[in-house]
Amino acid sequence: MTNSAPDPNAEALPRAARLPLIGGALAFDFANTASGRGGPEARDHLTAPDHVLLWAEHAGILDASAAAALRARAIGPTPEIPDLLDRALELRECVHAIASAVAAHTPPDADALTRLSTLTATALAAATLAATTLAPQDGGFRWSWPTDPPGLWTVLGPIALSAVGLLRDGDLHRLKQCHGEHCGWIFFDTSKNNSRRWCEMSVCGNRAKQKTFAKTAKRRASD
Ligand SMILES: [Zn+2]
Repeated sequence: MTNSAPDPNAEALPRAARLPLIGGALAFDFANTASGRGGPEARDHLTAPDHVLLWAEHAGILDASAAAALRARAIGPTPEIPDLLDRALELRECVHAIASAVAAHTPPDADALTRLSTLTATALAAATLAATTLAPQDGGFRWSWPTDPPGLWTVLGPIALSAVGLLRDGDLHRLKQCHGEHCGWIFFDTSKNNSRRWCEMSVCGNRAKQKTFAKTAKRRASD
């Protein structure tokens, strides 16, 4: 095999481990682990506990050894942590529902807000406030979750805090949902003039362009 040959294992990895991280915030990248919401090609990329761990490693929440340790606790015939996938999906769906409503300038669902509050409170109950290597004056404290061994909230806590932090302090005029038909992806628009419309120009942007082109061609043909 030459160096230029594609890595056969790369494609074999579940999609959760390869999803583009284009949300501009951890919580939105997590909300984007389902694609094509409401459309004929809807696809959930988190259908097993291991998908959650692969994504968390991909997104930088867990390193390889923490992911392996959590895998041993969350996967198996009698897992110590049996609800990793269920809790992950609960968190993802309430983050997506709230973000989607904010992006559409509509009031978010009260039940989704309650669920996010409860999940965040539970996550913080499992956290400790830890000093970082930075000086205290430079923002040297952070919420920290157990790593030896890692637990459920070691994965989900940072995501919940990311969501709540953005909702509380973020510029929500920049919270958007991709204009692609049945895309559903959420992102924080960091463009200079707040004009981003697509999750990825190369995916939904081009698809929309092709659609417009096909419509125009059809109209011209029937003129
Ligand atoms: Zn899109």
